Amino acid sequence: MPGLVEAVRERGDARMKSVEDHLSGILERIAPLAPLELQLLDAHGSLLVDEVAATGDLPPFDNSSMDGYAVRLADVADAGEQYPVVLEVVDDIAAGDTPKVALGSGTCARIMTGAPVPEGTEAIVPVEWTDAGLPTVRITKAPSSGQFIRRRGDDVSAGQTVLDAGTTIGSAQVGLLAAIGRERIRVRPRPRVVILSTGSELIQPGRPIGPGQIRDSNSYMLTAAAREAGAIAYRVGNVPDDPKVLIDTIEDQLIRADLVVTTGGVSAGAYDVVKEVLSELGTVEFGKVAMQPGMPQGFGVIGPDETPIFTLPGNPVSAFVSFEVFVRPALLRMQGAEVTERPTVRATCSTALTSPDGKRQFLRARYTPPADGVGEGTVDPVGGIGSHLLGSLARANALISLPAEVTAVAEGAEVSVMLLG
Ligand code: AMP
Ligand code: MG
Repeated sequence: MPGLVEAVRERGDARMKSVEDHLSGILERIAPLAPLELQLLDAHGSLLVDEVAATGDLPPFDNSSMDGYAVRLADVADAGEQYPVVLEVVDDIAAGDTPKVALGSGTCARIMTGAPVPEGTEAIVPVEWTDAGLPTVRITKAPSSGQFIRRRGDDVSAGQTVLDAGTTIGSAQVGLLAAIGRERIRVRPRPRVVILSTGSELIQPGRPIGPGQIRDSNSYMLTAAAREAGAIAYRVGNVPDDPKVLIDTIEDQLIRADLVVTTGGVSAGAYDVVKEVLSELGTVEFGKVAMQPGMPQGFGVIGPDETPIFTLPGNPVSAFVSFEVFVRPALLRMQGAEVTERPTVRATCSTALTSPDGKRQFLRARYTPPADGVGEGTVDPVGGIGSHLLGSLARANALISLPAEVTAVAEGAEVSVMLLG
């Protein structure tokens, strides 16, 4: 028979904060990073602060979209397979050249893709419609007016807004900015995140492992997760459960951190060194959040710059879920994002589920979208509820999110699903 302690633990307890309250408390204390002017490629992945207008036209001049011959329409109007038109070639214009002569009657100019068209040009005849001749060319087909000419400004005209404030700078945006001649832009910089795992039992991958030891998966997993959330992430290997080493390491790392994430050492056990050390500082609050996994959470600020710090639980699944639910939104907020949540959909749950009363439950799951793209997808929980189960975590592409008051879900019922990546 469960005792009183177990009963309280099972139901969640009154002193626990809800997930929503904990998250909103965090987001209130996280501000977007100050804008920074960066070189184009350094700005890749960041959010644009100001809208960008083109200072000139794109293309900047009328140019050919084909390798061929620049012609006047009247000269080639009668061209056909049977009766080719023969024209004198008076210029040869490569990309980067400046045309030397205007086209007069009965003349044409050989021209390459991207080269400026000479004055008098009314169309381009692709080389495939000719015998490719020099110094005269035989043309067997007439182009229509303007055909194969890319007009100045037909892509972007001077003064036009090409990117809105808040746009994420991806590869296409980098290309456009380069095309309009921008070398630097103002963006919200990517937050620099230091990830630090704690635990004397932890061994880095690639090192021999002894009795009682396990691999440090959290620092790798969360570094990758922070990168996926747009951060520049620095992975610090594991720190042993030693207060002095921990505080020294955090102090050393603060210089390069806009945000610090630790894992482990926040439960109620002996040697839970993160809680022990940071509680003393008084700027980091430790508490229980009504969720499973991920109940013990800490958040606050540290150091002279009041750098935000998250102390996540050590169990890998708890650390992963905590990152998704609390740290990722904070990182997006620092980058100036409007939306900090993962997309959420409703889906049909393939199996019956139970969930503790009073705790929001996050279950690793595989989501399959509806086959025809309309209606509801299905979701299958993967693995058990143990927060040490990394094997199943790697098969998940979603988290089923069950509200705190839900204790059971019937097979085939509708649930809310957070889509990861
Ligand atoms: P803790 O929160 O430090 O009590 O750790 C809870 C559980 O998570 C223990 O079984 C730890 O061994 C495990 N754990 C803690 N940190 C890590 C880590 N970085 N990688 C993998 N497992 C960890
Ligand atoms: Mg530990």
